[in-house]
Amino acid sequence: MVAAVRIDQVAKRFGAIQALAGIDLEIGQGEFFGLLGPNGAGKTTLISALAGLVRLDAGRIEAMGHDVVTDYRKARRSLGVVPQELVFDPFFTVRETLQIQAGYFGIGKSTAREAWIDEILDNLDLRSRAGANMRTLSGGMKRRVLVAQALVHRPPVIVLDEPTAGVDVELRRTLWQFIRRLNRDGHTILLTTHYLDEAESLCGRIAMLKAGRVVALDTTANLLRRFSAHALRLRLADGPLPAELARRGEDKDGYWTLPLDRYEDVEAVLAQLRSAGRRIEDLEIGKPDLEDVFIRVMRGPSPAAEPRLPQSGGGGGR
Ligand code: ATP
Repeated sequence: MVAAVRIDQVAKRFGAIQALAGIDLEIGQGEFFGLLGPNGAGKTTLISALAGLVRLDAGRIEAMGHDVVTDYRKARRSLGVVPQELVFDPFFTVRETLQIQAGYFGIGKSTAREAWIDEILDNLDLRSRAGANMRTLSGGMKRRVLVAQALVHRPPVIVLDEPTAGVDVELRRTLWQFIRRLNRDGHTILLTTHYLDEAESLCGRIAMLKAGRVVALDTTANLLRRFSAHALRLRLADGPLPAELARRGEDKDGYWTLPLDRYEDVEAVLAQLRSAGRRIEDLEIGKPDLEDVFIRVMRGPSPAAEPRLPQSGGGGGR
């Protein structure tokens, strides 16, 4: 099966800035794939190159087997891109905006087209605003229309560049419900976000970028296992933590954090505290999270020293 997105040795420089420094990635059809990285890591540049909006210095990119430069029209038709920035023609209504977008992809007026537009509007809670002029919409509503625009030609690959930046809880919930459904129906999703909790719950596989290079690439579950651990957080009512425990823990704001390999290790910690006569004031077990992983990866060794990790993942969200 052809890859949904294939990125091969891609490099791009803006003046003195090496925005992309040799990226290889393959995203399988049906994946829910996350592209993470700090500001300036190169995520938007990579997505723009995928959408044919940035000319590469080296390498090539294919969408559903079509080269984004030499076979631009077919590649572009395979993609629905939700950009970061809100750009609209203020003179049209929501429905007209979607009809015009469909027209760009050669989809003429038909009952099927209008039915699909209605379905998108319903799923993004936009139906009641279908006749409203674009300039009268709030920022969150405009963002919904951006998502709707990207979906109007039923692209097999949906690319979302920080779709939930600054939007309210309700839109997030609606948006992710719809995107998850589209993923279940077979659409490939490529998502960039700074909300690591979103990436953790949605993405089956994740690539982390730093200074234009891939510094981690694996399934979300493996990243959580490899870079993070369960930890016991506790605050004592009195006295210091016994030295043996303090050696392997970290003390911050009155709380000790002790890494745990297994839940059973809690028993040993409690026994040590009991025999030292310490009383516990507060205690919780923290699960590994992607934020933890992200911070470790970004602080980690230089990208060149990272081992190459498996490329293909296949199928679905977590
Ligand atoms: P963010 O999380 O802030 O959106 P990003 O990972 O998407 O960041 P990019 O927008 O791809 O990062 O930027 C990568 C680097 O390339 C940055 O240093 C940015 O300043 C630079 N850059 C991007 N576009 C241009 C441009 N058109 N001209 C000059 N430099 C650019």
